Amino acid sequence: QELDVKAVVKESMDLFEPLAKEKHLSLIYHNQIKEPLILDYSTIKMILSNFISNAIKYSNEGIITIKTKKADDTFILSVQDEGIGIPKNKLNYIYDRFYQVDKSRSSKISTGLGLSIVKKIVELNQGTIDVESSAGIGSTFTVKLPINPKVSHNDDII
Ligand code: ATP
Ligand code: MG
Repeated sequence: QELDVKAVVKESMDLFEPLAKEKHLSLIYHNQIKEPLILDYSTIKMILSNFISNAIKYSNEGIITIKTKKADDTFILSVQDEGIGIPKNKLNYIYDRFYQVDKSRSSKISTGLGLSIVKKIVELNQGTIDVESSAGIGSTFTVKLPINPKVSHNDDII
């Protein structure tokens, strides 16, 4: 499935723009991808929704920067915020189901499932997820996905 990455990101940005505006946060997009890529629409949509909603939820000011680029056969998507950040000693737990750094600060409708689902989906697609974060400074979440996933099981048989 050929995907217009830029259009999908714009779609997500439009969806979250009202929420961002309400908190006086700006959403910015940098794209380096010119051609359509073989990527799964719902996978990209799911990653974007979770990253952007987290960036908005855990920021009180600043800019949220979404970046998409391509390096060899890898698609790279990152969402950077200038929000509350995550303490170093909590970083290991954020992908655990139902884990929330500060339950009192999370809204009632948050479950702590978002990142655990994103991690599962990314790994099912042979990708990786990474976070860089400093408490009080902000966070950057990055996903890398193979653009042309190998049918590895067939390779094994042959
Ligand atoms: P849900 O996504 O199910 O609505 P949630 O946002 O609390 O709930 P996750 O998305 O899995 O759950 O994130 C887990 C925890 O990691 C969050 O509760 C929050 O403490 C921390 N976290 C995630 N993203 C950020 C971010 N961009 N900045 C600061 N903390 C974050
Ligand atoms: Mg979340």
